[in-house]
Amino acid sequence: MKNVLIIAGSDPTGGAGIQADIETMAIFGVKSAHIITAVTVQDDNKVYDCYYIPVEYIGNLFDKIFSENSPKWLKIGMIGHESTVKLILSKIKDIHELKIILDPVYASSSGYNLVTKEAWDLIKHELLPKCFLVTPNITEAQLLTGIKIKNRNDMESAMNILAKMGPENVLIKGGHLDGKPVDLLYNGKEILSFESKRLHQKDVRGTGCRFSSAITALLSKGSPLTEAVEGAKKYICDYIAGKK
Ligand code: PLP
Repeated sequence: MKNVLIIAGSDPTGGAGIQADIETMAIFGVKSAHIITAVTVQDDNKVYDCYYIPVEYIGNLFDKIFSENSPKWLKIGMIGHESTVKLILSKIKDIHELKIILDPVYASSSGYNLVTKEAWDLIKHELLPKCFLVTPNITEAQLLTGIKIKNRNDMESAMNILAKMGPENVLIKGGHLDGKPVDLLYNGKEILSFESKRLHQKDVRGTGCRFSSAITALLSKGSPLTEAVEGAKKYICDYIAGKK
């Protein structure tokens, strides 16, 4: 039985997107069902185009997956189009035991916008409050909260706003700030920090997708959230260092 469902966009290079999600879950020994929301035209340098998958397909497949399995964990990456966000919202409405990990994908590292404004508004106001965990990077946290993040204090201010927006837990990834990378986790009670040393590796893509997938994989295997974040962070450091 597959306990994890991934809903995300396809990156045909395998660097990021649903391909990176599936690969990461497999590294942790977790088999996943998956639904592709969009297919992109991209190479290792940039994204050129994006085509949305019809919502009829996504809805049909979602129903099929839940008629055969009842995944308890749903990892959501790139959604892209507002019709897809609306469909997902309608499908998850009555599945109360589902825990959602949302990586709120906004743009590729090369700057290509992977989500429409309407979809982003729905993600922010409707989907985010229903999540078990949301994992924005600095840019995404800025866009979700309206706070300009330049340092740890700004990160904490953004965290306080995100926590009030409704998700059970929030992880802000600090890797895009200068200095030692620090991620902050709000676990419903307090803010914990996770430090690592700065790894200077160029051209590593898909770290956001892989990090949230590793957390989901570990949670689905029974790890408590803090341990899942620690384990995923170790994996992502090894991945950036070229060891995984
Ligand atoms: N393509 C897809 C389908 C993605 O989901 C993502 C990121 O989530 C990207 C591209 C961008 O990856 P990167 O930030 O590594 O450029």
